[in-house]
Amino acid sequence: MKILVINSGSSSLKYQLFDMADGTVLARGVMERIGESGSVPDHTAALTAVVERLRHGDNAGACAVDIGDLAAIGHRVVHGGEHFVHATVIDDTVETAIESLTPLAPLHNPPNLAGIRGARHAFPGIPHVAVFDTAFHQTMPPRAFLYGLPYEYYERYGVRRYGFHGTSHAYVARAAARWLDRPYNRFNAITCHLGNGCSMAAVRHGQSVDTSMGLTPLEGLMMGTRSGDIDPALCFFLPNAAGIPISDMENMLNKQSGLLGVSGVSNDFRALRQAADDGNARARLAMDMFAYRIRKYLGAYLAVLDGCDAVVFTGGIGEHQADIRTAICGGLSHLGIVLDIDRNAGAGGQAACVSRPESPVAVVVMPTDEELEIAQQTLAVVNRPEQ
Ligand code: ADP
Repeated sequence: MKILVINSGSSSLKYQLFDMADGTVLARGVMERIGESGSVPDHTAALTAVVERLRHGDNAGACAVDIGDLAAIGHRVVHGGEHFVHATVIDDTVETAIESLTPLAPLHNPPNLAGIRGARHAFPGIPHVAVFDTAFHQTMPPRAFLYGLPYEYYERYGVRRYGFHGTSHAYVARAAARWLDRPYNRFNAITCHLGNGCSMAAVRHGQSVDTSMGLTPLEGLMMGTRSGDIDPALCFFLPNAAGIPISDMENMLNKQSGLLGVSGVSNDFRALRQAADDGNARARLAMDMFAYRIRKYLGAYLAVLDGCDAVVFTGGIGEHQADIRTAICGGLSHLGIVLDIDRNAGAGGQAACVSRPESPVAVVVMPTDEELEIAQQTLAVVNRPEQ
């Protein structure tokens, strides 16, 4: 049985085809520059081209695959609001509900929806399932998801913390529990997704009880180009002091801040490390700030959980940057975290336990696989007996 996973952005559409018998990837690819000259005009055309590629292969070396037994298509959808707490089979009502969440994710939900519409057009006879980045965090209690604002903004406009990267947090939490041979429904973990976007989640008994991103993916940790937590008063201080129009603040906080903004060098960790090694003090400072912010959240989430079984690192930085894991977890034996310096230095790119055997809290490196998680959730939804 096969499942196709689609991650549809504004100008690109990524796809992966899985054989669900063993989770192997049979085909993967990306359609780029959708809507630009020299490429396909829209997402429906992109999906038609994907079908062609899958059926007949392409001249970039992809082989033809039999998609006669395609069981379902799983779609990544960024924002499910409070409406979607699980992966959901898509019908016209669900499409409308995803569309109605556009104000909360104006850059993401419309292209996600365009991919869904294109795929439903190209594959009308099979189930389509929406898997939401926010859904895993819908188990957060109100004390964790509400802001200290007038309550009516929550009621009227849905102003609250939603959290993102849920597919990744869910995948690595479950994978780490399996790796450590612990029952997932009794597993407590702090998961750290550190890529271009970065977020952490406190997972109690297999459910998210807090996470660092908020109404939007801007809150929380310092990221490649996003500021993460700031004093909200900056949004009226800077327009006054520096004459930055309020309309430019959003771009500045999302695109010009974080590692890039502090270092003035790059948003890419490898480039920062190179610059720091070459003596660039601001590149070093940006890396220090990045790790310090994560360490603070780690302390907070240790206090939130009733005991923690594991700290789990994933994403390009979490998986590959051993020094950052040391900066985050080093010297925390008084909190039950005892890193194994050698194992940590040697880990990268595959699942590994990098804490000492006597460490009460295990520290685990776990490569994420959001596409496989989407495929598995899709399969679970289509296999679920009718209610
Ligand atoms: P995205 O969040 O876009 O999926 P990644 O998870 O790959 O991307 O994270 C990107 C970040 O991870 C960059 O800062 C990059 O420098 C870092 N990174 C990715 N791969 C490696 C690697 N092999 N070694 C060191 N750093 C890496």
